[in-house]
Amino acid sequence: MTNNRITNIIKKLEDHSVISKSENKNSSPTILDILIATKLSQNTTDKTSYKAFMNLKENFKTWEELIEAPLQKIKNAIKVCGLANTKARQIKQMLKEMKKKYGNLDLSFLKKMDNEKIYEELLQYNGIGVKTVSCVLAFSLDRDAFPVDTHVHRVLNRLGIVNTKTAEQTFETASKKVPKEKQTAFHTNLIKFGRNICKANKPLCNLCFLYRYCSYEYKNLYKDKTSSIKKENNFIILENV
Ligand code: SF4
Repeated sequence: MTNNRITNIIKKLEDHSVISKSENKNSSPTILDILIATKLSQNTTDKTSYKAFMNLKENFKTWEELIEAPLQKIKNAIKVCGLANTKARQIKQMLKEMKKKYGNLDLSFLKKMDNEKIYEELLQYNGIGVKTVSCVLAFSLDRDAFPVDTHVHRVLNRLGIVNTKTAEQTFETASKKVPKEKQTAFHTNLIKFGRNICKANKPLCNLCFLYRYCSYEYKNLYKDKTSSIKKENNFIILENV
C-alpha cells in the first residue's frame, strides 16, 4: 500500500471522528487506571475487561484498598475477564511493590520521563509487557505509540496496510508505515472503527466510508447486507493485548 493511501485512510478516519476528544475526557482515567485496565485486557475481549475494570472500581474505593484486600475478593471482582487468578495476583503484587517503591500510587512522575525510561520502569513489574506499556504511553501520556490489539490487527489486514498473521507482526510492520505523529490517534480510531463498523464477524461494509480503500476479499458480499451501527461503550481498553 502506498504512503498516499495510508494518509488518505488516516484522514478519512479523522474526518469521521470515530472517537471525539470529549469522549476521552469523560473517562479521564489516571495512568494507573490505564495500566490496570490494559493488564485486565490481556487475552480477553474489550467488553469483559471493561466489566472487570468497573467491578474493581466498585469494589475498591482506592487502589490502596486493593493492596490490603483478600486475593479472593479481587479474583471475584475480575473473574468475568478470565485468567482471574493470575491477573488478581499480579495486580495486587504490582500495587504493593509500587507503594513500597514510590511511597504512593500516583504515577504522574512518569510524565517527566522519556519513553525509553518509562518502558524500563514499568517492565520491571511481573505481568507487564511491552504492549501494555505502549498502551499506557498512547492513552495516558499522549506519546506516539502504536499498540496493536485484535481490532487494529484485523482492520489493518483487511485494508491491506499490512499482510500479517499475528498482532506482533502487525505491530512491527505498521509502526514503520504510519507516521509517528499520527500513530496514537490512528490507533484509537482504528479500535473504534473495528468495534463499530469493521467488526470481526459481520463487517458493516454497506456503511463503510473506507470501502474504496479496502482490500478485503469479501467486502462485496457484506456490502449487500443491510446493517446498522449500534452504540457501544467508549472506554478504550484494548482487546487481546
Ligand atoms: S469495507 Fe468492510 S471489510 Fe473493508 S474496512 Fe470497511 S467494513 Fe472493513
